[in-house]
Amino acid sequence: MGKLCTHELIACELAAKFYLEIGRVRIARTYIEDARYCYICWGATAKVLHLEKHYSQLLGRIFSEVGTIAAQSTLKSTTDSPKLDLMTVMKAAQMLSEEIVLEKLLKKLMQTIIENAGAQRGYLILERQGQLFIEAAGSVDLEDISVLKSIPIDNKVVMLGLPTTIINYVARTKENVVLNDAKKEEKFNRDRYLINSAKTHPVTSILCTPLIHQGKFLGVVYLENNLAMGAFSLERLDILQLLCSQAAISLENAQLYAEKEEYSQTLEQRVADRTAQLEKANQELHRLASLDGLTQIANRRRFDEYLTLEWKRSLREKQPLSLILFDVDYFKRYNDCYGHQAGDECLKQIAKESSNAVKRSIDLLARYGGEEFAVILSNTNTEGATVVAQEIRDRVRQLKIPHQQSQVKDYITLSLGISTIIPDLNSSPEILIASADTALYEAKKQGRDRIISNQ
Ligand code: GH3
Ligand code: MG
Ligand code: MG
Repeated sequence: MGKLCTHELIACELAAKFYLEIGRVRIARTYIEDARYCYICWGATAKVLHLEKHYSQLLGRIFSEVGTIAAQSTLKSTTDSPKLDLMTVMKAAQMLSEEIVLEKLLKKLMQTIIENAGAQRGYLILERQGQLFIEAAGSVDLEDISVLKSIPIDNKVVMLGLPTTIINYVARTKENVVLNDAKKEEKFNRDRYLINSAKTHPVTSILCTPLIHQGKFLGVVYLENNLAMGAFSLERLDILQLLCSQAAISLENAQLYAEKEEYSQTLEQRVADRTAQLEKANQELHRLASLDGLTQIANRRRFDEYLTLEWKRSLREKQPLSLILFDVDYFKRYNDCYGHQAGDECLKQIAKESSNAVKRSIDLLARYGGEEFAVILSNTNTEGATVVAQEIRDRVRQLKIPHQQSQVKDYITLSLGISTIIPDLNSSPEILIASADTALYEAKKQGRDRIISNQ
């Protein structure tokens, strides 16, 4: 009987159903047997089981006559009780179909094949883009299957113990090769592996079969047994092929799954990279938006934002919050005398020295506007703020930036105002600023170059 296409198969099944319904049992049986045979050849185990369950009255006779479906379905086999019966194959196939992770599947697949075929060693070779790769290797001695990282089949693999001529032959012709005494086979007697091994451990039985699913060549299963001649019979080959075609389906699924996994992983990675890049760009933007262009310290916008934050925090924690406002003395005169560029340079130096005086990372020095600066000091009382203010004043004094027009010293000096508040619901950041501003104004009034605190 020739192979049926899917439509013909469905037609067979429907015809069987129809003839059964009108009582033409003999005709129905012919159709259902044809359908079942083809499903077995396809390796569509679930469909075979389905047919056997639903048409047991038609197929039951065959079971009882022959004993195993394997003996019936593999047709070419006429010997008694094959070692591999179809139930074993089906169990194995079911186990394989449950395994969706490629690596685990390859292991199980090799294990099942080696055990059931009575092989000593086995290789699973898969084809990708026209090239054959060894994906799994196993042996009964090692009792473990190694899943290999896709070793391409080329001249080098002679080392691994594989007759490449046989593998390539099976891949090319899609025919099975069953050798009972390999060294005597003329067809392959020039194979380097067979020649080399003849000296130490002559290879006797070989079974090499193509893995084919829906007409598509997936790879090759290679099995070897050096203990017995003719270890692999044609009868075993039939059942092995059934198992292989099931395995091929699972393998394809697992490959698809692995590809999908890899794709989603790379996609996830790409999304993560992109997000990290965006995050970095955002941080940079935020940083730039918060910086004063001239002095490179925080700008007024950042000052307002940070003061609001720290105010809320201090309110929650009932901690003192201090603010220093400071202003360059007689700066208009400085500009008039030395020019605006020198004025800018002076502001930069003041900013740099002040930021050295503000040591904790939670404190914030900002350019408040013009030649005025501000320092927000969290969890800091007046004494603490005074220490910081003194250090700023001293550091700027030590810069000794000449200022001939100053009325207090002949170098640049600052006036500083401090205010400290333990925030409550009756106060506000604006009150803190106004209070520091009053203190600063008082410092100016008292003669400049000094620190006044407003508690
Ligand atoms: P006081 O001691 O009372 O603070 O006198 P002052 O001259 O420093 O005060 P006033 O507020 O009258 O002048 C501030 C000057 O600061 C005005 C302006 O020329 C100068 N200024 C403000 N921003 C900048 C700036 O970015 N660069 C320069 N070079 N000068 C600035
Ligand atoms: Mg000033
Ligand atoms: Mg000013």
